[in-house]
Amino acid sequence: MQTFFTHEQLKDPGLARANEILRSCVHCGMCTATCPTYQILGDELDSPRGRIYLIKEMLESGRPADEKVVRHVDRCLSCLACMTTCPSGVHYMHLVDQARAHIEKTYRRPWRDRALRWVLAKVIPHPRRFRLALLGAKIARPFARLLPDARLRAMVAMAPKQVPPVSRNDDPQVFAPKGAPRMRVALLTGCAQKALNTDINDATIRLLTRHGCEVVVANGAGCCGALTHHMGREEEAHGSAATNIRAWMAEKRAGGLDAIVINTSGCGTTVKDYGHMFRTSDLASDAAEVAGLACDISELLVRLAPEGRAPEPLRVAYHAACSLQHGQKVKSAPKDLLRAMGFEVVEPADSHLCCGSAGTYNLLQPVLSAELKRRKVETLERRAPQVIAAGNIGCMMQIGSGTQIPVVHTVELIDWATGGPRPRAL
Ligand code: SF4
Ligand code: SF4
Repeated sequence: MQTFFTHEQLKDPGLARANEILRSCVHCGMCTATCPTYQILGDELDSPRGRIYLIKEMLESGRPADEKVVRHVDRCLSCLACMTTCPSGVHYMHLVDQARAHIEKTYRRPWRDRALRWVLAKVIPHPRRFRLALLGAKIARPFARLLPDARLRAMVAMAPKQVPPVSRNDDPQVFAPKGAPRMRVALLTGCAQKALNTDINDATIRLLTRHGCEVVVANGAGCCGALTHHMGREEEAHGSAATNIRAWMAEKRAGGLDAIVINTSGCGTTVKDYGHMFRTSDLASDAAEVAGLACDISELLVRLAPEGRAPEPLRVAYHAACSLQHGQKVKSAPKDLLRAMGFEVVEPADSHLCCGSAGTYNLLQPVLSAELKRRKVETLERRAPQVIAAGNIGCMMQIGSGTQIPVVHTVELIDWATGGPRPRAL
């Protein structure tokens, strides 16, 4: 695709990257076939190709974002199915990130949107605040119908019925390996996950220590910045990411680290992109090192080759989180691990499509998100599983709110099969 950025514009590293990406798109339109929003809405402007054109015009002109661009970019899930499909290797993720940052800087949203987005950015990445908000939502649940905004109703509806007590495992500390030490790894305990489901980190720590890993929860590490990054709030996102980079590099310099393990794939995609996010900053080399050490829990488990046996021969429907399959290109590892334990693994039709969770998408775009959830749950239930497994808390909450079938994290099943407790959700 031809672009018309000026030399002056191309001195900006963000625009230079956007230019590179735009030039790689040959506008063939193959990506439209796998774009969930295009499938639902049938509007070219709600397809990757349409959005690429809108972003190109906006960035090239240097004009403030307008309502039309914002509407169509906001509807994008950042599911990255288009990146998997694109034969030209267009890095849509970096392009839409750039567009979101531009929108955030130049567009004044209606006050309700501003207030809502501000609350989400200030609450969800902070486990204590988020926990309080979840408890508040629990109380508000009976009155949800009276709320004036569909997004507020969606927020209350998404809150879990039970908010788990705080797990002290999430505090900064070191867990000693059982048996001969094999690796020293840092675990990202996350932000929202700590308030929503403490079983995932508990299972991960048991599983890793059982397989010879010293597990470090680094002092100072917290939210990876993904949530604010996807809202275009660059400063906040970079602030969270920089804090993590410093915390993990301090650990690495003090005691060495073989990996930084992430069990929420949405966070994993962002941490693996830290090298790009900080490419022009003083932290560039540390950020690149952290990004290189980052791995999804399933990738590390493949290296550890756990041996175990499913205590019950369950039929597991594996839901591939977009951030794992499209963002990180981790496709077979979780399924292979489950199969190796003796679980029967099935997959839903259209497994490449998003469940509609997508960070804060289910709260900000409740109508589209609900439709994607309905489709995902239908295809999963059609496989008649006894349990659904996923590698991302957002997907687990989204799918769990639409089905009676228990939903667990993949690590909970592998932990169970290698000597851990039966997952609580079963
Ligand atoms: S498939 Fe790739 S090259 Fe073709 S229109 Fe989509 S992004 Fe552009
Ligand atoms: S990221 Fe997902 S929703 Fe957005 S354009 Fe690509 S395929 Fe469509």
